[in-house]
Amino acid sequence: MNDLFRLDGCVALVTGANTGLGQAIAIALAQAGADIAAVGRTAPHETLAAITAVGRRGVWIEANLDDSKAAPAIIDTAVAQLGGIDILINNAGTIRRNDALDFTEDDWDSVVDVNLKSAFFLCQAVARRWVAENRGGKIINIASMLSFQGGIRVASYTASKSGLLGITRLLANEWAARGINVNAIAPGYFATNNTTALRADEMRNRAILERIPAARWGDPADLGGAAVFLASRASDYVHGAVLAVDGGWLAR
Ligand code: NAP
Repeated sequence: MNDLFRLDGCVALVTGANTGLGQAIAIALAQAGADIAAVGRTAPHETLAAITAVGRRGVWIEANLDDSKAAPAIIDTAVAQLGGIDILINNAGTIRRNDALDFTEDDWDSVVDVNLKSAFFLCQAVARRWVAENRGGKIINIASMLSFQGGIRVASYTASKSGLLGITRLLANEWAARGINVNAIAPGYFATNNTTALRADEMRNRAILERIPAARWGDPADLGGAAVFLASRASDYVHGAVLAVDGGWLAR
C-alpha cells in the first residue's frame, strides 16, 4: 500500500521552491523519492541542501515567472538536467494589497502574470511533451481560499486564484483521458512571507485565528501529504479536484 505513495524514479518540477510552501512541497516530494527541479528567481540553497540530505538530486532552474514565454524553455531545461519530468507543481505566487478603488494595472498584471498566466503556460508546455511522448503525468496547481471566496483588498490575487481553479478543472476535462492528472491544493492560512502582513496586523490575525477550526496557522510542512498524494499513483483516478488543506476553514 505504501508503494502507492512512493515517487522513486520520478522528477518533479516545483516553482517557487526556495521558501514557504514550495520549499515544504519540494522537500516532501524528495522524501517520497523524487528528484527536484526548483524553478525561480532566487537561489534555493536551503531547499537543495534538504533534497540532497535525503539522497535525491536537486537542481535550480533560474527563471522569472513574470514572463510566461519562459515556460517551454523551463520544461526543456528540467528534462535536459534531470532526464525527464513526471510532476509539475505550480506553486510560485505573489500578492498585491490595495483597495479596489486604487488598484493599478501594475498591481493587476504583476500578480496575474505569475499566478495564472505562467502557471497555465507551464501546464501547456509540460503536457505538450507528455502528449508527444504518449504518456501521462501529474500537475498540481496551488490555489487558495480565494479560489472560493472574495477576499478583501486583493483583487488581482482573487482573480488569479479563482482563475487557477477554473483552469485546473478545464485542463482536467481536456487531459484526463490522456492520463494526465490535473488537480489543485487550496492551502488555508499558512505562516509564510505571503502572509507576513496579515499576521502582523493584530486585528486581522485574531479574526483569522478565531475562524480556523484547528485554531492555528498552517505550517508549510502540513502540505506535504496532500502534495505527495496528488503526485503519486494513489491519485491516478483523481481529476480536476481541489484538496483544501486549511485547518477546516472552508467547513466553517
Ligand atoms: P512566499 O513565501 O512568498 O513564496 C512565494 C514563492 O513564489 C517564492 O519562491 C517566490 O520567489 C516565488 N515567486 C513570486 N514571484 C515570482 C516570479 N515573478 N518569478 C519566480 N518566482 C516567483 O509565499 P507562499 O505562502 O509560500 O506561497 C506559495 C504559493 O502558495 C503561492 O502561490 C501562494 O499564493 C499560495 N498560497 C499561500 C497561502 C499562505 O497562507 N501562505 C495560502 C494560500 C495559497 P522569491 O523568493 O524570489 O520572491
